[in-house]
Amino acid sequence: MAKSLANFDAKLSSVYQSALESGELIFTASETVKSTETEYEVDCEICYAPALARKPQGVLPVVEADPNPKVTSAPTTSGDLHTAMPSTPVKKRIEKTNPFLPHSPALYVTDIGEEHKVLLNKFCIVPRHFLVVTKEFHPQTEPLSPQDMLAVWSCLNAVKDSRNALAFYNCGSRSGASQPHKHMQVIPLETPSPISILVRETSMRRPGKKENRPGDIISVPFNCINHVYLLPDPAQSDKDEEEILIEAYISLMDAMMTSIREYADQESLSDEEKSLCANGMSSFAYNWILTKEFMMIVPRKQASSDPVDGVSLDVNSLGFACMVLAKTPEVLTMVQKKGVINTVSETGFCFLREYYSPEKEQQRKEQQAILEKQMAGAFSGL
Ligand code: AMP
Repeated sequence: MAKSLANFDAKLSSVYQSALESGELIFTASETVKSTETEYEVDCEICYAPALARKPQGVLPVVEADPNPKVTSAPTTSGDLHTAMPSTPVKKRIEKTNPFLPHSPALYVTDIGEEHKVLLNKFCIVPRHFLVVTKEFHPQTEPLSPQDMLAVWSCLNAVKDSRNALAFYNCGSRSGASQPHKHMQVIPLETPSPISILVRETSMRRPGKKENRPGDIISVPFNCINHVYLLPDPAQSDKDEEEILIEAYISLMDAMMTSIREYADQESLSDEEKSLCANGMSSFAYNWILTKEFMMIVPRKQASSDPVDGVSLDVNSLGFACMVLAKTPEVLTMVQKKGVINTVSETGFCFLREYYSPEKEQQRKEQQAILEKQMAGAFSGL
């Protein structure tokens, strides 16, 4: 069972306020630029925060055990919602490689059970953005454990407007993670995130399409492999929260591996991509998003979008929530021209022959079912 966190939201607010006032937490204001580009007319969000571009980028510690680590060592023009570093000297930053062990006492909110603690994000763009961190060191490349998911789930349930809150995990450095110590993240939101609206729209009944049910796996209309598990309401389910979360996660991992195998089978794939798929089967980089309504997984091919005139966007889980950060006017213009969804999709696995879409996926499943029926009929006649 998930722990119930009494007074969590009030504690979060008071620690946030004190840390902000004492200067231990740095909030960067941003302008939100809307971009309507989905077939359901959902607004994607580009947070424009030029103040972050003026801050020097740090040397990011390599995520341990990742065969394809991302090392950012120089200032870039790209945007990344969660790699903003403080302007302390680089040497000091390298020495202090783990900001979560020990953590800054001013950012500590509470423990969750034996294994996790909640810390505020020291460099936030969304107020009260917090991290659910393992108390002991675990690598950020590890899969989520049932305890990890339950800890995040109890936080989601404990924040104000919990239906809108978004939890995420950047697994592996190609996924946008910048810290090697295992940390999930939660952003409390007052209104639904674009991805929540998109999942609701995609799963709704439409002419020629049934409404999706809890337990179904769907894909949202990105140009890359993605899988979304629609969660049942635990109060209406005969399963407990732990069983629900485990079942969702395992089903999504399974769906992701099947899709990657299909992707790797494409004839026109380059050798580089084939080896990426082969290596990746054992240690995949992926983004994971959890809300009270769904769990989503997106396998990652690369950390940043394809550059246009040297300008690219670093993407983490929030990219697939259709919320990206542009730190320079060049990045803002590039993302506006290309579109948020096209830009973030470049960092996932896009089928070469045709774009991945729920309709095409449905057609493929139907053709497969017809084929299997025909084959079963043919065999029964033998
Ligand atoms: P990611 O970049 O996705 O791996 O997330 C790491 C998060 O840790 C980012 O949101 C950073 O802003 C945040 N962070 C970095 N240093 C600290 C620190 N000393 N205390 C708390 N949060 C931090």
